Amino acid sequence: MARTVLKFGGTSVGDLDRIANVADIVAARAKQGEHMAVVVSAMAGETNKLVALAEGAAGSELKREQYDDEYDVVVASGEQVTAGLLALALRKRGLKARSWLGWQLKLKTNKSHGKARIMGFDDSRLPDSIDAGEIAVIAGFQGVTEDERVATLGRGGSDTSAVAVAAALNAQVCDIYTDVDGVYTTDPRIVPKARRIEKISFEEMLEMASLGAKVLQTRSVEMAMNHNVPVRVLSSFLKPGEPNPGTLVCAEEEIVEKQVVSGVAYSRDEAKITLFGMPDKPGVSAKLFAVLAQAGINVDMIVQANARGPDRANMVFTCTDRDSPFAKETLEKMKDEIGFDSMEVTRDVSKVSIIGVGMKSHTGVAETMFRALSEKNINIDVIATSEIKISVLIAAPYTELAVRALHTAFGLDAE
Ligand code: ADP
Ligand code: ASP
Ligand code: MG
Repeated sequence: MARTVLKFGGTSVGDLDRIANVADIVAARAKQGEHMAVVVSAMAGETNKLVALAEGAAGSELKREQYDDEYDVVVASGEQVTAGLLALALRKRGLKARSWLGWQLKLKTNKSHGKARIMGFDDSRLPDSIDAGEIAVIAGFQGVTEDERVATLGRGGSDTSAVAVAAALNAQVCDIYTDVDGVYTTDPRIVPKARRIEKISFEEMLEMASLGAKVLQTRSVEMAMNHNVPVRVLSSFLKPGEPNPGTLVCAEEEIVEKQVVSGVAYSRDEAKITLFGMPDKPGVSAKLFAVLAQAGINVDMIVQANARGPDRANMVFTCTDRDSPFAKETLEKMKDEIGFDSMEVTRDVSKVSIIGVGMKSHTGVAETMFRALSEKNINIDVIATSEIKISVLIAAPYTELAVRALHTAFGLDAE
C-alpha cells in the first residue's frame, strides 16, 4: 500500500478557508487510496508572534541558554493548533484522522533547543495508525529530547519534519505544498522572470537552500539526499485535479538536461568582520576560529590578505548578521590573546550566489558572473567558490539588482 507524506507551510494553512482547501486536497488523495501523513506548519505569522512573546517574557538580561527550553515550549505551540484544526476539517469530510504532536510521534531530537537536530523515532505507533487508514496530521517543527523536553527544529523546520517522517515511513514521495508552484531559478518574488525548474538535483537544491532560497529548509534537503527520499515542491493554491507539476528534487543521474547554472540565490542575513593586523604566523587562524566555534558562531566566507606592516595579516570572514553582535563581543574579549590591532563589523552586506552542477565541467562561469556584476557597477567584496557554486559578498542595497543581472547573464529569464 502506498504511503505518502504531504507538508503544508504557513501561508497554505493561514486561515480556515486555506485549511479547508488543504483538507480538500488531502481528501482527494485519500480517495485515490493513499495512506498519508500530513505535516503542518503554524498558521502564517504565528511563529513570529510566539517568538516575540517568548523573547519579551525572557527579557534581555536572560542568556539564550537560560530560556531556550521554555522558548521551545512557547514557539512549538503554533503547530499544535494547525494540526488540530486540519484533523477537525478532515473529520468533517467523513475521513478518519487524528493529530500527532512531536512527543506522541516520539520524534527524538538532541538538546540544541531552538535549532535541534532529529535523532530518529522511538517505537512510534504512527506506521500502524496510517496503515489502518487513519490520516496522521502531524505538528511539524517539533520533537522531544531524551529528558522529555519539547524541542524545535529551527525556522522552516517543518520541511525537515516532513522528510524525516517520509524516510521513517519509507514513503514513496514527500510532497512539500507551499505558496509557490515549485522551485524557481531564483526567488520569484524579486525576479518576475524567474522560471519554475522541473527537476533539480539534491546537490544543487542543498546549495540553493543553504545559500538563502528559503523554499526548503537546508536540513530537509540534506536528509532527503541521505535517505534518497524523492521530494516534490507543489502549489497548495490549486484545486484538486488542476495540473500541479511542481519541481522534483532527485538524484543527479535522473536529470538528463544539465544546466551550467541552474539558479541564483541570495541571503541578506550576512555580516562581514575584518580583523586588522593579525600576527602572520602559524596557529593564529586556528586560535581565532576555535574561539568562534566555541561560541557557537558559524563562519562562512574567509579571506586572509597581507597587511601593510611586516609579519601582519588582515583576516576577513562572514557570519550571519544575527550572530555578529555576539561575535564582536566574543572577539573583543579575546583581542590580546588573538593579537589583532582593530576590528570592523559591516552589517549592511548580502551574499549572492550562482549554483549549477554544470560548473564542474564548464570554464568561464566566474568570468561571466563578475562581468555581469561590473556592468552594473556592483563592487565585489569577498568571493567564495565550491565545485557547484560561486558566491560573492556585496553591499546590501545592490542585492536585487545583482540577482536580476545574474539571472539574465546566465540565460535563466523566462521568455
Ligand atoms: P512555507 O511557509 O510553505 O514553508 P516559505 O515561505 O518557507 O513557505 O518558502 C516559500 C517561499 O520561498 C516563496 O514564497 C518564495 O518567495 C521563497 N523562495 C526563495 N527562493 C525561491 C526559489 N528559488 N524558488 C521558489 N521559492 C523561493
Ligand atoms: N512555523 C515554523 C516557522 O515559521 C516552522 C515552519 O513553518 O516550517 O519557522
Ligand atoms: Mg518554509
